[in-house]
Amino acid sequence: MHSGDNHPLILKLDVGGIPLDWVHWEYAATAYVNNKIAWEGGGKRIRINGGTNRATGLRSFLEMDTIIAVNDHRGGALMGLVPPLTNRALFQRDGHICLYCGERYRHSDLSRDHVVPTSKGGPDEWENCVTACGPCNRRKGSRSPEKANMKLLAVPYAPNRAEYLILSNRRILGDQQAFLEQFVTKRDRAA
Ligand SMILES: [Zn+2]
Repeated sequence: MHSGDNHPLILKLDVGGIPLDWVHWEYAATAYVNNKIAWEGGGKRIRINGGTNRATGLRSFLEMDTIIAVNDHRGGALMGLVPPLTNRALFQRDGHICLYCGERYRHSDLSRDHVVPTSKGGPDEWENCVTACGPCNRRKGSRSPEKANMKLLAVPYAPNRAEYLILSNRRILGDQQAFLEQFVTKRDRAA
């Protein structure tokens, strides 16, 4: 098998169609070979090229779906859990926009701001964290937005599992995005 990380990630569902995780094609290939695929749910197929057969000169390949369901029943339980808070997913949630000045920045110029500062007992959780640029984060310091006289542009929230999967994959495919969006509740983030 040709390896390399150019292939998109595959969305793994439980048998009831609840999203579980992103998996690499190697995982999916093993599941296909071992007949562990319960059903396929994507609109596209990913083709992985293998080696060339010396005798026939034909190139082998493996095709797999962009969305696979396996015999697993943990989806519902996972959906009920708050996904891990990472800077990548946090900045994605806020569209790479500093929620104080409203400017868009690159990942490396952004930081995690605690709305209620950790020094004042603010938890390191989704509902208390927003994306902030360096200058805004420094200006706010260890004050609440009110004390710093800085208005929050949107309300922080905890994404559900499906939303987290959308936020954590930079190279999500259109059919995967559409599938996951069914599980995302629309919200009004006006502060
Ligand atoms: Zn800013």
